[in-house]
Amino acid sequence: MSKRDYYEVLGVSQDASKDEIKKAYRKLARKYHPDVSEEENASEKFKEAKEAYETLSDQQKRAQYDQFGHQDPNQGFGGFGGGQDFGGFGDIFDMFFGGGGRQRDPNAPRKGADLQYTMTLQFEEAIFGKSTDVEIPVEEACDTCDGSGAKPGTTPDTCPHCEGSGQINQEQNTPFGRVVNRRVCHYCQGSGKIIKDKCQTCGGDGRVTKRNKIHIDIPAGIDEGHQIRVQGKGEAGVNGGPAGDLFVVIRVQPHEFFQRDGDHIFCEIPLTFAQAALGDEIEVPTVHGKVMLKIPAGTQTGKTFRLKEKGAPNVHGRGQGDQHVKMKIITPKNLTERQKELLREFNDISGNEATEEQHGNFFERMKRAFKGD
Ligand SMILES: [Zn+2]
Ligand SMILES: [Zn+2]
Repeated sequence: MSKRDYYEVLGVSQDASKDEIKKAYRKLARKYHPDVSEEENASEKFKEAKEAYETLSDQQKRAQYDQFGHQDPNQGFGGFGGGQDFGGFGDIFDMFFGGGGRQRDPNAPRKGADLQYTMTLQFEEAIFGKSTDVEIPVEEACDTCDGSGAKPGTTPDTCPHCEGSGQINQEQNTPFGRVVNRRVCHYCQGSGKIIKDKCQTCGGDGRVTKRNKIHIDIPAGIDEGHQIRVQGKGEAGVNGGPAGDLFVVIRVQPHEFFQRDGDHIFCEIPLTFAQAALGDEIEVPTVHGKVMLKIPAGTQTGKTFRLKEKGAPNVHGRGQGDQHVKMKIITPKNLTERQKELLREFNDISGNEATEEQHGNFFERMKRAFKGD
């Protein structure tokens, strides 16, 4: 079964705000939550809505989805990594009852967020690959306080209101029975800690933004829309969790002469009427340098020649594409008197013979078409 469009699943428009998306999801979650719903296929519908919400509520994933849909554009470079751990039903109950809190232990290690970086390459750079350094702003643990957020020499205190859990439980009677409503602890904002003396470098966040220089190897044959995953170069993990990944999204600038489709390169070469009729040997540019191409006498416009392995290397190392060279015969304009004279003479001695020879009885068919039979 093909997947439904995420916007359609949630019943929101493409430009829906984060709030609208959340509201729409909340409504569906209430309707289809498998613990409470009596609707048919509730659990599938719930799953579908959850998946749509997970994508559309995450700015990065949403952008990715808007661009590529359900398709995984990574083509072997690895998909979007973990990072987001949507724990079971905790999120749902929080949403039901307006807590908005987290069920997870605030002290548990969490993977850092994945980052996305768009890199624009020249046409040739994509074909031959490139080794480069990029500077990416990344949130990292603060060096001054080692990520604790507390002034060096001091330690954060455990929050007395939530006893370090970061959340406060409240029991509530609902139509479904007694439910525990978890709320973020407002005293510690869910961190479970109270910092009296804040670190001056990070202002108590424990994290600072740095410009990270990252080395990236672009493989030869990469193409528009491909992604390169650089493991561990996303945002720093929290509480000792692993760092997220960096995704480099590739854009390729168009070339003024070549077009590319996968591993193949296409171009069009103008020929004069005389070259096409008499044959010639011409120089054709390729990304690998000039190549001599023999044009046989009587070449027609639109005829395509293949220059084997003069295209782009396959990004997965599976051989090399070709260059396809299409002939375009240019009708001469602004002829001199002498040129006109020669062409008239040429016409007089050849008549329609040459054309009829190559196009069968084209003129016969055309005459019949005029008569309508
Ligand atoms: Zn607290
Ligand atoms: Zn600090």
